[in-house]
Amino acid sequence: MTRPRVGIVGAGQLGRMLALAGYPLGIDCTLLDTSADAPGAQVADSVLGSLDDPRALAKLADRVDVVTLEIENVAVSALESLDGHIEVFPPPSAVAAAQDRLTEKTLFRSLGIPTAEFVTIDSEADAASATALGWPVILKTRRMGYDGRGQRVVDSVAALAAAWRELGGVPSIAEAFVAFERELSLVAVQGARGERAFYPLAENVHRNGILASTIAPYQDAQLQRQAEGWLTALMSTLQYRGVLTVELFHTKSGLVANEMAPRVHNSGHWTIEGAQTSQFENHLRAVLGWPLGDPSARGHAAMLNLIGRLPPRDAVLRIAGAHLHDYGKSPRPGRKVGHCTLVDEDRARLMERLTALREIVARSNQ
Ligand code: AMP
Repeated sequence: MTRPRVGIVGAGQLGRMLALAGYPLGIDCTLLDTSADAPGAQVADSVLGSLDDPRALAKLADRVDVVTLEIENVAVSALESLDGHIEVFPPPSAVAAAQDRLTEKTLFRSLGIPTAEFVTIDSEADAASATALGWPVILKTRRMGYDGRGQRVVDSVAALAAAWRELGGVPSIAEAFVAFERELSLVAVQGARGERAFYPLAENVHRNGILASTIAPYQDAQLQRQAEGWLTALMSTLQYRGVLTVELFHTKSGLVANEMAPRVHNSGHWTIEGAQTSQFENHLRAVLGWPLGDPSARGHAAMLNLIGRLPPRDAVLRIAGAHLHDYGKSPRPGRKVGHCTLVDEDRARLMERLTALREIVARSNQ
C-alpha cells in the first residue's frame, strides 16, 4: 500500500507538529521552507524554496498527494498556481480572506458575527475618522500582522497619523479598543464531506501581543454553542477543509470576534496531550479526507509558551506530567522556542503545577 503524502507550505513549529502527528498514522509529510534547519525540516523531509515561489510549490506538489499550509502569509497567487495539479486545503480563497483584516472583518459581519467597530486608514487624513470610535484605538496593518507586529495603540488623531506613517503608510484599519474580560479561542475542523468537530473553548493570555498561556477547557455551554455557530457559518461559507481557529474577546455584553487563522493554532497546542485527538492529527485527517477524531478534552490542560529561550530542561521535566516541546530554534527575544503542557483531571492541582512551571520559566528569564 502506498503511504499517504502531505505537503506542508512552511516548516515552522506548526509544520513540525503536523509532521510529528502524521508518524503514528503512517503519513509522510514533506515541508517547504527557505531554511533546511527550520523546526519542521529537522523532523521530516523538506523542499528548499520560497513559500511564494510557484516553482518551489510545484516541486513540493510533485512529491505529495495533497498540499496544506502552516502559515497564512503566503502569496495566494502562488497557491492558486497549483490549481488543476493538486488539491490545496484550506482553499486559497479562505487563506485570502484571513490575510486581510478588512476582508476578514467584512466577512464576519456579513455572517452576523460581531467585531470591534473599525474604520479604514489609508492616509494620514483618514486618522480623523477614528475619533468616532473613542480613544484609545488600535491601529493594525491590514496585511502581514502577527504576534502583535504591525499594531499600535494610540490615543489621538495626531498619534494615529504618526503611527500609520511609522508602520509603513500601508492600508490599515483602526479598531475600537475592546475592554474584554478574557480572551478565548475556538479551534474547529471541517472534513471532506462537510462534517465538523469543535474543540472546547480555550482561555488565552497574551503579553505584548504574543500568546503567553492557554487554559482549556473554558466551560460555558452557551458561549461554546454561540462560537460553534460562528465557526459553522465561516467553514461552510468558505467551503473549508482543515482546522480553522477564531480568536474571541469575551466582554460584559458577550462575545466579539477578533480574527481567524486558517490553520492549526498556538491556542490549540494543549490538544496534543489534553484532547482525545490533537488539532494536528485532525487537520491531517481532514486534508486527507479521513474521518475526524474526537476533539473532547481529557481533563484540564494548561499550555505555557516558552518565549526567548528554553528554561533548564531538567527543572521542567521534574514537574510531574510536564510535556516539554522544544521547537529546535535558537534563542532570540520574543521568539516562540517551545511550549510546555500540563494535564490534570483536577483543576486546582493543575493550577498549582502551572504556578511551579511559571516560576521556573520566570527564573530562567531573569
Ligand atoms: P491580533 O493580532 O489582532 O490577534 O491582536 C493581538 C492581541 O492584541 C490580542 O490577542 C489582544 O490581546 C490585543 N488586541 C487586539 N485587538 C484588540 C482590541 N481591538 N481591543 C483590545 N485588545 C486588542
